[in-house]
Amino acid sequence: MAHNELVFAALGGIGEIGMNLSIYGFGEPRRRQWLIVDCGVSFASEEQLPGVDLILPDIGYLIEERKNVVGLVLTHGHEDHMGALIDLWPRLNVPLYATPFTAALFEARRASEPGAPQIPVKIVPLGGSVTLGPFAIDFINVAHSIPESNALAIRTPAGIVLHTGDWKIDPTPLIGAPTDAAKLTALGDAGVLALIGDSTNAIRDGRSPSEADVAKTLAELIRTAPRRVAVTTFASHVGRLRAVADAARLAEREVVVVGRAMERVVQVARETGYFDGVQEFRSAEAYGYLPPDKVLALCTGSQGEPRAALARIAEDEHPDVTLSAGDRVIFSARPIPGNEKAIARVINGLVTQGVEVITDRDRLVHVSGHPRRDELRDMIAWVRPNILIPAHGEALHLAEHAALARRLGVPNVLVCRNGDLVRLAPDGPQIIDEVPSGRLYKDGSILVNAEARTVAARRRLSFAGMVSVALVLDAKGALVANPEVELIGLPEFDAGGAAMLDIARDAVEEAFDALPKPRRRDPDAVAEAIRRAVRAAIAERWNKKPICHVHVLTV
Ligand SMILES: [Zn+2]
Ligand SMILES: [Zn+2]
Repeated sequence: MAHNELVFAALGGIGEIGMNLSIYGFGEPRRRQWLIVDCGVSFASEEQLPGVDLILPDIGYLIEERKNVVGLVLTHGHEDHMGALIDLWPRLNVPLYATPFTAALFEARRASEPGAPQIPVKIVPLGGSVTLGPFAIDFINVAHSIPESNALAIRTPAGIVLHTGDWKIDPTPLIGAPTDAAKLTALGDAGVLALIGDSTNAIRDGRSPSEADVAKTLAELIRTAPRRVAVTTFASHVGRLRAVADAARLAEREVVVVGRAMERVVQVARETGYFDGVQEFRSAEAYGYLPPDKVLALCTGSQGEPRAALARIAEDEHPDVTLSAGDRVIFSARPIPGNEKAIARVINGLVTQGVEVITDRDRLVHVSGHPRRDELRDMIAWVRPNILIPAHGEALHLAEHAALARRLGVPNVLVCRNGDLVRLAPDGPQIIDEVPSGRLYKDGSILVNAEARTVAARRRLSFAGMVSVALVLDAKGALVANPEVELIGLPEFDAGGAAMLDIARDAVEEAFDALPKPRRRDPDAVAEAIRRAVRAAIAERWNKKPICHVHVLTV
């Protein structure tokens, strides 16, 4: 007779930063009930995935298992945890749970997306609980870089799992309560089967500084600024926005919010009480009328996003906000890996205008929202898990988190990959199976499978361009007119000065002439021979092979 098992799998977020989606299953192997935790996106880099805006987890498996899914719970409102919901939830249509700020931020995001469907969110109070099938879930407050980050204590008949979500230890987090050490310790006393935990900063020693330390530095830099000040940070970092607003008030500067994502978060923060006592902000149109030492611009674009406020200001293309020599810009953020070049472009644009730029390399103007090693140590000491599985990190982060846990004596440490089905109990941890996992790309308004050829073809096009050839043949296989040849994205001349178009044309004619007469009546054979010849001739001169399309029409 089959026994009830407790299993875990990540469909995203392990071996990568971003796209977090975990599932927990309970029941007999063929009759499991599933709990989904988070449903996030990754951001694509333009060079790697041209034309792709977002990367989403492939949830084909969950769509198949939809009837057995008891619910989807969000740990917090960052895009790498809830950014895929607008696109994927309609395919699942399962009950969705979040705490008030996360729910409000999600609704504001959804409402801003043209044509997005209604997505009902059931609200769980802070520190609250919800029972979904065999899973009784307690929300435990943890400090992070957005309000209301929650670790989830998932109680099942086979034991308790602590899913940490994103967290850090910050005794003075500016908004919200500090990480709930008492609750986590009580959980440890009750006995925790497994801890699935944030590995983002496992390669960093010590403890991360507090948001309060950052607030102090920001206040000083804003107070001593001689002229205009602009601060950029992650739009959803409400604690940081509040620190900037407080600093501006003390320096008698009006705050102007620039950028839609930040306006949205400010609105949500006011609705949910996280901005209680914060002064009213001015609209971007007011910026130009305020004296330089009486204004502060709070801008989107800390990651160098080309359409965001700061990039447009750096290019001197913003309709309301300008900066000039002697002004000060503070980057209160760290580059997300992959964004360094885009950020450097913005910084260089500002420096060229004579603007002073301060980043976290110069001063403590940013801290991460993730735990460093001493904080990971505290978590393990509180919770004392039997099993630890590192999550939320690239291979190196996972390995360091695992090594630390082993050194601290956690009995079972398992590093797994996206798609591994891990049995936690009984006799855990063991990888017992693989569940289908993968990636989807958001390409314009369409979701495509990452294996589909479109994006790969686009990358090849961007690397070596394309040659297009058109031939018209009569029934006997004779050319009716001269072949049409067109080059797209190729150099005009080779190193010796010969026109690339002539090289391609010659290759077409030679290849056609070399074909035996009977073969010329077969359009596919003609196309293939010409395609090969053109690519070879161009590769010989250029050392690169373009895509070549040959169209053969017969009349
Ligand atoms: Zn995250
Ligand atoms: Zn987060």
